[in-house]
Amino acid sequence: MPTVPISFEFFPPKTDALADQLWQALQQLKQLNPAFVSVTYGAGGSTRQRTQELVARICQDGGVPEAAAHLTCVGASRDEIAEVVEAFWQVGVRHIVALRGDAPQNADSAAGGYQPHPQGYAYAADLVAGLRQQHPFKISVAAYPETHPEAISPQADLDNLKRKFDSGADQAITQFFFEAELYPRFVERARAIGITQPIIPGVLPIHQFAQMERFAGMCGASVPPWLRQKLADLQPDSQAFQDAAAEQCAQLCRQLLAYGAPALHFYTLNRAPLLLRAIEMV
Ligand SMILES: Cc1cc2nc3c(=O)[nH]c(=O)nc-3n(C[C@H](O)[C@H](O)[C@H](O)COP(=O)(O)OP(=O)(O)OC[C@H]3O[C@@H](n4cnc5c(N)ncnc54)[C@H](O)[C@@H]3O)c2cc1C
Repeated sequence: MPTVPISFEFFPPKTDALADQLWQALQQLKQLNPAFVSVTYGAGGSTRQRTQELVARICQDGGVPEAAAHLTCVGASRDEIAEVVEAFWQVGVRHIVALRGDAPQNADSAAGGYQPHPQGYAYAADLVAGLRQQHPFKISVAAYPETHPEAISPQADLDNLKRKFDSGADQAITQFFFEAELYPRFVERARAIGITQPIIPGVLPIHQFAQMERFAGMCGASVPPWLRQKLADLQPDSQAFQDAAAEQCAQLCRQLLAYGAPALHFYTLNRAPLLLRAIEMV
């Protein structure tokens, strides 16, 4: 078992059957005593209602010490964001993962792709500053060891992370990655520009290789050849795949802990078994 705090991320399910699956996963994973669990927020507010309902239910009945709500600012005015934030506060949310969110798929690339809402927050750093004025939340932000795909350079992206901390963020959670060495290199670069706050690695257990590759393609995470060699040709339902995926996840966690990770955040995809097994092996 990891010797540092762990946390679990869930996404709001679309159907009642998937909601049952999520709740079951939460009940299993809470036995590992997570410091907090978080609920994602569809970019453009597409899951606004479902995120609010799920996070409220976790606050009331989840049996975990803290439920964090993700919040994106893309496509929303500051007033709309303030309303959502107020609703989170009223149901007991005290921790927000503050994000810009992805530009809609149909964003006009000729106009530069991402366009901030005219009355909104342009970037996550601006959202953090707004949250700081509304309520005394704990605030987490996103960090990218392999650089955010839209950033003009790795240094500009790191400077953006610094701005998020300067605006009042308490900690960062990273995008997932598979080469453990990326973590200490990134933390070292962050420390070199004066970032002192915790940077928590985000870990994605691999349930299906093709699905993971799709996610990686969307968020700019690299898939190393050794990982492909290990998992790509195995049937996702096979025992061989389950064993290899659990060992890969556990090994990454062990390496991250050896590199001094202050906590581990897991992208659960609302599933428990693989994660339970991997975490026990750490
Ligand atoms: C831990 C974690 C949780 C996430 N949860 C969700 C979720 O719940 N819902 C969801 O939709 N997405 C989620 N995402 C994905 C995230 O929304 C996308 O990666 C999004 O494209 C960027 O969000 P951000 O908060 O990092 O943006 P920002 O920090 O605002 O950065 C976005 C891009 O703009 C650049 N930039 C920043 N400021 C400026 C500036 N002033 N001028 C020019 N460029 C600038 C940055 O370098 C970067 O390339 C999550 C990501 C992580 C790592």
